[in-house]
Amino acid sequence: MSQHDAGSKAGASGFRPSADELAEHNRQAAATVATPGVAAPPSRQVAILTCMDARIDPLAALGLTVGEAHVIRNAGGVLTDDAIRSLCISQQALGTREILVIHHSGCGMCGLDESAFSDDLHDRLGVRPDWPIGAFDDPADDVRSAISQLQASPFIEHDTAVRGFIYDVGTGLLNEVPPAG
Ligand code: ZN
Repeated sequence: MSQHDAGSKAGASGFRPSADELAEHNRQAAATVATPGVAAPPSRQVAILTCMDARIDPLAALGLTVGEAHVIRNAGGVLTDDAIRSLCISQQALGTREILVIHHSGCGMCGLDESAFSDDLHDRLGVRPDWPIGAFDDPADDVRSAISQLQASPFIEHDTAVRGFIYDVGTGLLNEVPPAG
């Protein structure tokens, strides 16, 4: 089966890929989402690290518009090496000077059993991850840890303003994580 076939037919599970429909949506939306006059450097000089959770719309939640901020997302909004890579490039190439680390309620990475995940992955795919899974038990503790790591990282400008928050997916409200102490 070719890649194209795999992408256009329903699988045994009944799953149907959305790519064709999404590409059509794009043709309809292109004129309204185009940003011909917007510069690449985020105008608020802010970068946001948050989770990929489908319930979170970071721009809407923070009242941001396109062009104002970088948004770096991964499973959990975890400060991985790749998140540091993106934040470093955000600062050095595109001038951001403020970082918001935002975890959220109901995150799948909170309380995830890493050894069970690894065993399950081995059963399904025959491999174990050679990367840190990044699960955490307490979102606030993980945010505080990320802030400490950012403040200590040689790749992050020392005068960066770093703040941490937990976003409640039920209320839409952001609650600041107080510093450790
Ligand atoms: Zn999450």
